[in-house]
Amino acid sequence: MPIDPKAPYDPNNIFAKILRGEIPCTKVYEDEWAFAFEDINPQAEVHTLVLPKGAYVSWDDFSANASNAEIAGLVRAVGLVAREKGLVEPGYRLLANVGENGGQEVPHLHVHIFGGQRLGRMIA
Ligand code: AMP
Repeated sequence: MPIDPKAPYDPNNIFAKILRGEIPCTKVYEDEWAFAFEDINPQAEVHTLVLPKGAYVSWDDFSANASNAEIAGLVRAVGLVAREKGLVEPGYRLLANVGENGGQEVPHLHVHIFGGQRLGRMIA
């Protein structure tokens, strides 16, 4: 069910539980600011999710309310994970779904990294 990107943060969303270690995941990366794991239902050969550790519902919430350090931390983590997965030279795609039209399902900001194959142009 699509989420409201301006709704208050729900600490019981599934990614909050993953961040707290209450639900297992295939962890890829973690630092002070960000956490990355493999998508449970991959849509490409590589499909990894990168989250800020802070409680932000969406890109809208994060871009308006996160500190510069949190924003830098997430952006650097996304780049680092893509580099570590060897995606830079062949290329990759980033996606952050926001709200109903964006099809966002989990109300904790996450950036999708897609790669490992030719992805076609933009959205289908
Ligand atoms: P979005 O539509 O941008 O909110 O994407 C949510 C993504 O989270 C989807 O690609 C799901 O496959 C993925 N997902 C949902 N639950 C889990 C989980 N427990 N572990 C890993 N990925 C998940």
